[in-house]
Amino acid sequence: MNPKQWWLFRIFALFRKEKRQKHMLNIVLFGPPGAGKGTQSENLITKYGLAHLSTGDIFRANIKGETDLGKLAKSYMDKGELVPDSVTIQMLESEVNKREDAKGFIFDGFPRTSAQAAALDAFLTSRGTSITYMLALEVPEDQLRDRLKHRAETSGRADDANPEVIQNRIDVYNRETAPVAGFYRDQDKYQGINGVGSIEEIAERLFATIDQVA
Ligand code: AMP
Repeated sequence: MNPKQWWLFRIFALFRKEKRQKHMLNIVLFGPPGAGKGTQSENLITKYGLAHLSTGDIFRANIKGETDLGKLAKSYMDKGELVPDSVTIQMLESEVNKREDAKGFIFDGFPRTSAQAAALDAFLTSRGTSITYMLALEVPEDQLRDRLKHRAETSGRADDANPEVIQNRIDVYNRETAPVAGFYRDQDKYQGINGVGSIEEIAERLFATIDQVA
């Protein structure tokens, strides 16, 4: 390739990247512990071919791999507390950076604080893209407790097995995470989804909302 061809190729590649970033479908899948974010993420990945980023899964993989990040995260997760923002934001951004070719992302379990939401906005803006919608799974609290109890029998998650830790996760959600919905409401990006019903019914509601708004 001569220098002129190389430059033309570079410009074309940059143009394509910018166009792709502008048209990305980036979804925040939101909801309290036990709302079904993980299960429904699977359905969205299959249907829309998006990259799935679950901060809880990434922390659990680090715990399994006995990394320093895993040790730090475990000390918070075992109590049902949030891992500090600075650590979580840095980890999330580095995971996004690893997926240059993604058509879009499902953010599952992130953002969980207002600081994380603001950091995600700034980060995506710097990459020429933004959150398309927050889809919030709405489930009454008594059903959440039943689901978590049931999940504890199969998930192998220490934080599902202890009722005090479950209660703390729900309290932390109500105190620190629920207000994040307001951040997206203010941008007209909030879509509440009835999270009660069969997995298939809830998936259909999510698909219908995405197809209508995206
Ligand atoms: P999850 O798998 O989403 O239920 O998350 C399990 C645990 O991981 C949470 O209870 C927190 O301790 C930690 N965690 C996951 N995502 C975040 C986040 N965005 N910010 C802080 N801590 C998180």
